[in-house]
Amino acid sequence: MRVLVVGLDGATFDLIRPWAAAGHLPALARLMQEGVHGELRSTMPPVTSPAWPSFMTGMNPGRHGVFDFIRSRPGGFDMVNASHIAAKTLWQLLSEAGRRVGVVAVPVTYPPRPVNGFMISGILSPRHAEIAYPPDLLRRYEDELGPYRISPAVQYADGDEEAFVADLLALMEQRARYALRLMQDYEWDFFMVHFVALDVAQHALWKFDDPTHPRYDPHSAQRYGGSLLTLYQKADAILAQLWEQTGPDDVLLVMSDHGFGPLHGTVNLNNFLLQRGFLHLKRDVATRLRYALFRHGITPSAAYALLVKLGLQDVVVRVSKRARNAIVGRFLSFSAVDWSRTQAYAMGHVGQVFINLRGREPHGCVPPEEYEAVRQRVADALRELEHPQFGRPLVDEIIFKEQVYQGPYAERGGDLLPVMDGFRYIAFPLFASNAQVVTPQVRGDSGCHRLHGVLLAHGPAVQQGIELDGAQIIDLAPTILYRMGLPVPGDMDGRVLTEMFEPAFVRATPLQQAEAETTHRRPEHELLPEEQAEIEARLRSLGYLE
Ligand SMILES: [Zn+2]
Repeated sequence: MRVLVVGLDGATFDLIRPWAAAGHLPALARLMQEGVHGELRSTMPPVTSPAWPSFMTGMNPGRHGVFDFIRSRPGGFDMVNASHIAAKTLWQLLSEAGRRVGVVAVPVTYPPRPVNGFMISGILSPRHAEIAYPPDLLRRYEDELGPYRISPAVQYADGDEEAFVADLLALMEQRARYALRLMQDYEWDFFMVHFVALDVAQHALWKFDDPTHPRYDPHSAQRYGGSLLTLYQKADAILAQLWEQTGPDDVLLVMSDHGFGPLHGTVNLNNFLLQRGFLHLKRDVATRLRYALFRHGITPSAAYALLVKLGLQDVVVRVSKRARNAIVGRFLSFSAVDWSRTQAYAMGHVGQVFINLRGREPHGCVPPEEYEAVRQRVADALRELEHPQFGRPLVDEIIFKEQVYQGPYAERGGDLLPVMDGFRYIAFPLFASNAQVVTPQVRGDSGCHRLHGVLLAHGPAVQQGIELDGAQIIDLAPTILYRMGLPVPGDMDGRVLTEMFEPAFVRATPLQQAEAETTHRRPEHELLPEEQAEIEARLRSLGYLE
């Protein structure tokens, strides 16, 4: 009995359901009819970089320690990598149990670690680094299958839709060729392959397929609407090919790390906190001057736009990090913040607000006994944020950290996680790009993440034609271990999705609990500065950073 997992980053039933019903996605439709399917709740925030570690460890971010693409440290931030995951992964557990594994392109698996089988790291890997285990794995295939590609090569820009989509299709095809060859050439008990293309495409192209989107334009929709369907159809065709490699004893799981939907605007939470007096700037003349310029619209992006006009953008791209810092450094950034008077700040994707807690933050000034009161005041203020169009509250829910983070690293997560207009509005990840609080999304991404991704399963002992309710991404590692007849570590936060299996199988297969011994720290791997800059640039091109 083997398990094949196909990860479709960002796949959503909002698109799959109607397209499968219309006959456009035959493999996914068959999985829905003949297997089980249901929404799969992601992590908070529903972002690729904590979600995949939660998949591979069965733990919430408070236990595995990864909360975002970036991790703050005094004076700046680091890009996240696999060595920051403070827990054993599914493939380590399977390897220790003597099962043969193959893991291809799952995000946050760089640097690759030895497994009983092979592994190729996914996005968040530096381009010229050793991304495979064993290290010569890819070289054996590159003559035949072409140099292995980690991420898209064409950055989305208006007018470049065709090249952008063609590149994503080519990336998916090449990933599939590698996966199919590796599945044939190696013995495996667990095989997993990840495709990032749907995530990248939905960030860029959502507006073309959504007539309710503020940026929907019938003319361009006629030209490029359908591109997302083309990419989902490619994923469906690849899924069918991979499925064909399995036998009657094998279980297939298809899943995404979060869902997707329209993006209507970004919220500069730090500007809001500044207006409300929770965040203060330094009083020196330079900072006051910068703030004055900033409020008059002279911002990093305005300065960048000027450079583009002058034809210097290539220079800026080439020396991206230094140039960007030089531009941004002249305007507002965290370095302009007066931490001695600041009670709260925002940092990270979707919207995480941190209380400037003494003893935890590098320059914390909020005494622990005031933490709860300050947090309540910030939450109350956030509830007064207004939707720019409808005037109703923009924040529909504020998640307090203890609702979603438990474990030794829970402190590192945001103290308040506001959900804004059903994720149609997300926070700007760093300080601010202009002086407004709410900025309509007039360029760049038109789609962004949602809390619920997808889960589909098929195979022996898997129920047929039923819909699952309440599955979470942290449930998959324990569920896979259970189906493979292995004990489930006691410190996994997820549960075995027994309702996925036939009652007779569940009755005959008692759950074995293993010791809670999987959480462990190991030496962290720090990326070289140029590797860090390169990943940052790539994330920016994928729309994850400004
Ligand atoms: Zn993702």
